[in-house]
Amino acid sequence: MFNALRKGFGLTGKTMFRRPVTTQYPEVKREPQPRFHGRHILNRYEDGLEKCIGCELCAWACPADAIYVQGADNTPEARYSPGERYGADYQINYLRCIFCGLCIEACPTRSLTMSHEYELASDSRESMIFTKDMLMAPLPAGAKPTPHTDAEVAARGLTYYPGPAAQRTIGGPPARAWHDPDDPATPEEAVGPATVKLGGGETEPPTHGEH
Ligand code: SF4
Ligand code: SF4
Repeated sequence: MFNALRKGFGLTGKTMFRRPVTTQYPEVKREPQPRFHGRHILNRYEDGLEKCIGCELCAWACPADAIYVQGADNTPEARYSPGERYGADYQINYLRCIFCGLCIEACPTRSLTMSHEYELASDSRESMIFTKDMLMAPLPAGAKPTPHTDAEVAARGLTYYPGPAAQRTIGGPPARAWHDPDDPATPEEAVGPATVKLGGGETEPPTHGEH
């Protein structure tokens, strides 16, 4: 009997002097682990151009069918991204998303990344569908909102893609004009879509298989 009391009060006494594990949320927000998967961000380049090229790879990679992307062509007068296409409509349904991160693995331009933001609760289903405006990163200081014109992008002289991707200027031959072995009508020495240099200068056309 005495032993049981000693054990019980001993446990109470020890617990009284332990550090509390409870966080006073929401007054105190807990800092997530560095690789925590929070809500998504659609990133921009330093001049404000969007990194999303509307390729839909993120949507295809998503196991929960949570992403909707509608791509559209950039034009010389209205350029949103350095690529041939941009994400005209972009939505993520957070009622479906399981925060697995497969979409950001699939994104070829690192347009899509995940933040540490976890406060996503809402009392309306509609507000859980985040649109492009809600997902877009803020404009960097001094950057211009999209769309830009090809002339002003070329004048900046920025290189948006590293390595062999930096070999063609905006305003050059159409990016879709690469050689298709099944279609003899396509040019023999054509330029692939991945060989795009932004920022001016004459360039050599790449050889086959370079893209
Ligand atoms: S984190 Fe996973 S579930 Fe959520 S949108 Fe990306 S791929 Fe889909
Ligand atoms: S976010 Fe990335 S993967 Fe998704 S459409 Fe844009 S560029 Fe493609």
